[in-house]
Amino acid sequence: MQPILEVRDLSTYYHTPRGPVKAVDEVSFTLHPGQRFGLIGESGSGKSTIALSLLRLIRPPGQIESGSVRLDGVDLLSLSDEEMRQKRLADIALVSQGAMNSLNPVTRVRSLMEDGFRNHEIELSSEESEQRIAALLGRVGLPPTVANLYPHQLSGGMKQRVCIAIAISLGPKVIIADEPTSALDVVVQRRVMQTLRRVQEDIGSAVILIGHDMGLMAQFADHVGVMYAGKLVEEGPVRQIFAQPQHPYTQLLMDSLPSLDSRDMSGGVAGQPPNLLAPPPGCVFHPRCPYAFDRCRVDVPKLQMAAPHHRAACHLLDEKEKIAA
Ligand code: SF4
Repeated sequence: MQPILEVRDLSTYYHTPRGPVKAVDEVSFTLHPGQRFGLIGESGSGKSTIALSLLRLIRPPGQIESGSVRLDGVDLLSLSDEEMRQKRLADIALVSQGAMNSLNPVTRVRSLMEDGFRNHEIELSSEESEQRIAALLGRVGLPPTVANLYPHQLSGGMKQRVCIAIAISLGPKVIIADEPTSALDVVVQRRVMQTLRRVQEDIGSAVILIGHDMGLMAQFADHVGVMYAGKLVEEGPVRQIFAQPQHPYTQLLMDSLPSLDSRDMSGGVAGQPPNLLAPPPGCVFHPRCPYAFDRCRVDVPKLQMAAPHHRAACHLLDEKEKIAA
């Protein structure tokens, strides 16, 4: 199956007076139609910068430095601003944590949804628009009467469902959900995630779910990528990552969880993430890694196959290979 999204060597830096912060550093991954890819990592690991880079919503002093983002064969980084504007929502859409609070409180849900049609020059009669909006609201489990309401009249869960309805309104090939439920209580979180999963399956979109809630990730994603200090350090099928993590950082994350139902990884790994203005040489994880050896302090490990469909960036994989040979 052809990938729907191919990200190659994507680097995004924030330029500060003290030098560039390498928020995303040569990240590569692919996404297949219908796949649910979870991107996990500590705060500041670059997850949200990847989301904004894919949507080309990075603002100065941030800048996409290099790489390519091919969506259904089209390199988004080579499009004009207007071409990219047309791609957003139509082909790649965002559901963000802040989205529900950014819904204009004095604009009815109907108008918010019509904006998407209008911005993409989709001409609909008022009857067609009404039907389409009712169908979209129905897809996310909301009655058509919600179209008449203002966002301030909706609960947090309902607002996030409206955001999902807007995100799927033009049938995007890829939905990026950036911590979509972190402001919601646990029961509502679960329902919103079930809704996202159902609509994603209905329309066949692929989803990138960004977050740090390992429980939600285990329930939602079929494939997981682990970010550390701007780098993708491990990726593979969710069951394999949880059962047999190959990168020491992922192993420590898993060890710090009492069970898969644990909600958060903030209790996490001992030590602090590196200063991205002056990251350590070699493996960026080496100051916190209990297995670091001489090579780790000078050589940057590359992602390599650890098992079928499972890659990790750690020199220990080479050592294991030497022992096995
Ligand atoms: Fe640890 Fe070395 Fe592997 Fe980095 S490369 S994770 S420091 S063992």
